[in-house]
This record gives sequence, C-alpha cells and structure tokens, in this order.
Amino acid sequence: TDPLSSVDPEIAAVLQQELGRQRDYLEMIASENFVPRAVLESAGSVLTNKYAEGYPGRRYYGGCEFVDIAEQLAIDRAKALFGAEYANVQPHSGATANAAVLSAIAGPGDTILGLELAHGGHLTHGMKLNFSGKLYNATAYGVDPKTFLVDMDVVRDKALEHKPAVIIAGWSAYPRQLDFAAFRAIADEVGAKLWVDMAHFAGLVAAGLHPSPVPHADVVSSTVHKTLAGPRSGFILSRDQELAKKLNSNVFPGQQGGPLMHIIAAKATAFLLAGSDEFKDRQERTVRGAKILADRLMADDAKANGVDVLTGGTDVHLVLADLRESPLDGKQAEDVLHEVGITVNRNAVPFDPRPPMVTSGLRIGTPALATRGFGDEEFTEVADVIATALHPDPDLGALRARVKKLTDALPLYPGLEQW
Ligand code: PLP
Repeated sequence: TDPLSSVDPEIAAVLQQELGRQRDYLEMIASENFVPRAVLESAGSVLTNKYAEGYPGRRYYGGCEFVDIAEQLAIDRAKALFGAEYANVQPHSGATANAAVLSAIAGPGDTILGLELAHGGHLTHGMKLNFSGKLYNATAYGVDPKTFLVDMDVVRDKALEHKPAVIIAGWSAYPRQLDFAAFRAIADEVGAKLWVDMAHFAGLVAAGLHPSPVPHADVVSSTVHKTLAGPRSGFILSRDQELAKKLNSNVFPGQQGGPLMHIIAAKATAFLLAGSDEFKDRQERTVRGAKILADRLMADDAKANGVDVLTGGTDVHLVLADLRESPLDGKQAEDVLHEVGITVNRNAVPFDPRPPMVTSGLRIGTPALATRGFGDEEFTEVADVIATALHPDPDLGALRARVKKLTDALPLYPGLEQW
C-alpha cells in the first residue's frame, strides 16, 4: 500500500536508508538542520502540482486562490519575524536569491566586494566560476592573517580602492559576528549598496541572539534551511519599497519561472515556528553547544595534538577547528569522525598550507543536534568524543559506542516509521 515502495522500490530504499543515516549519525554539518514534521508535510504535499507564476493576487495562472494564501502568510510572517517592510519568499535556493539580489542592485561588469571564498565567503559572492564572478567584477576582502577576524579598516581600504557598486557582508564559514553598522558606514562613504547574506545565522537573528542586519542593509538575503530550520530554499528582505519592485521582478521573471508552492507553504510554517519560545531555546542551546565544543578543542590535550580553534572561540553556531599543526589533515579528520558516527565537513582555513581537497580545517556546527534536543550535557559529551577522536590512534569502537548512546537517548523523528 506504500505507493513509492511499490512503484519505485529503489528510490524508496534510498529514502529509508537516508532516514536511518540521519538517525544513526550525529549531524554536525554547520549548514544543515532537521525540519519539523509539519514542514515535511507541506514539502511533500499536493502543492507541488501547482503553477503560480507571478505574485499573490497577480498570477499568470488560474486556480491560485489557495496557494496565494500560503504565499501571503509566508511573506507576512517573514516580514514580522525579521522586522522588514518587504519580503520575497519565492527563491528556490540561497543561490537564486543571491542572483536576484545582485541583478537588482548591480549591472553586468559592476564591481562587487565580498569576503574572500577561501576565508569563509560564499560562491555567490564573487567566485570566478559562479555567475557572480562571471557577470560582475568581483573583488574581495580577507581576514586578518593573525586574528582571522574581518578587520573593518581593511574592508574600508578595499572599498576605497575598488569603489564597488555593492558591498557584501555574510559568510559560510566564519565563527564571529560582523559589524553591520560599520559596513553601512563604509557603503555610504563609497556610494555602494550594502547587501547582507545572513544564510548561516538567520536563525540566531530570528531568536534575538545575533544583531539583525535588516536595519543596516539595503537588501538581506538568506536560506531557510540552515539555523532557521525550514525547507531547502531562499528568501529576500528589504526596508526599501523602491527596491522591492526591482527585487520582485529580478526573482520572477528575472531568475525563476514558477515558484515552488509546496516549499513556500513549508517556509510559512518554518517562519511561524521561528517566532516560538521553543525555537529561541533551541538557538540558545545551539550557540552554547558551539562554545562548549570550541572550549574542548582548545583544551591542553587537544593543543598537544596540534588541534586548535580559529579566532579562539565562537559567537555563533559553528566552530572552525584549526589542524594546521596537527598530523591529521582536514580530510583525515573528517574520515575519522565519520567512522565514529559524526558527520562534519573539512574546510580550508584562511591561508591554508594544505591543498583544497585536503585542507587544514573542519567546520563543525551545532544546529542539527540542538534541534534533536541536545543541551549542555550532550554537547559536552560529543565535544569530548570529537577531541578524543582527533588524538593519535583513538579507540574508534569505544567512541562509536558513545555516539550510539547519544543517538539512542535523543532519537530523530521519534515514531516516524518510514518516509
Ligand atoms: N549564502 C550563503 C552564505 C551560504 O552559506 C549558502 C549555502 O551554503 C548559500 C548562500 C547558498 O544556498 P543554496 O545552497 O540554497 O543555494
């Protein structure tokens, strides 16, 4: 009676195996999370059947009366959650949101200035093989070689040197908060638009644990599926009603055709839940868990094995482990953690002496485990498992057993038998 397993047993098996993997491993990829079952329900619903080009009340297709309600709810909730005058909830992903943002505020060939990819920036902030590096004249600021922090004097110097049309603040791998007011002042000084990509830390902003970029930026873009814990997708915010029209037309028809209405409905639910006390508590556990992990990876035994933490800690949901002095490179460390049941990704550290396929770092995030229910006690245990796994010749069996104890104690999607 299960339609998928009778029609396509091979894909049904993949879904079942993936559910098992998510349950049995400790998910510590900083950009991932687990959506609530309420969100899974919309994402797997009949709304996937509906074409709705256009915007609520102004569609190019008939039969949009119900999906209009879903999209308007998503818009209103996004605006309320982040205190913005304008929201566009149609971007299929963070990357398409960013493509729409850039095409709205810059023209082909214009100069853009973002954080260097190798220092924690994102592909869509000017990487040469990405649309952002091909269509625009991409320039970059890096982190300080000693502190590994973004230095606003350097950002200002680069802005004065390159005179960008757009300054980009935001990151995929950076463990500290950015000074949005200082970015605003520099943007004003050089006549640039300020675009903040808050994809990673949007959940922390929603919970009031991270300064909001909305009051400072001309445009804010984000994904929904990282700390914010919604469906895989993007959205755009602004305070500027003039820019709003341009942003809308650069999403549709600029970048996309029909919006994914099932995902937009799921976003509406995610934005609703992100205003709850439970969500705030979860984001607090996320940030505390990252601090616990950072402290453990800077303890004497870790340092003795060449393990350290970039910037000496974290203010957000992730830790950048620094393995430059460790005999283990990023790839080997990622593999050892996989063997004990912990999923992370290797990550180049700024000025990395090792090649990009190997790297000297790990990016380790706490959002998915916080969603699973982890608190200080569980994060203390997982931090010790990670630090011990990075010792020479760790007892992998014993560490795997400690991971299993944690996954058994806080099961993912309890009661869900198949998906
Ligand atoms: N912006 C930032 C800062 C990101 O970290 C990411 C994803 O890693 C994106 C945008 C792109 O999101 P997506 O993978 O949904 O295209």
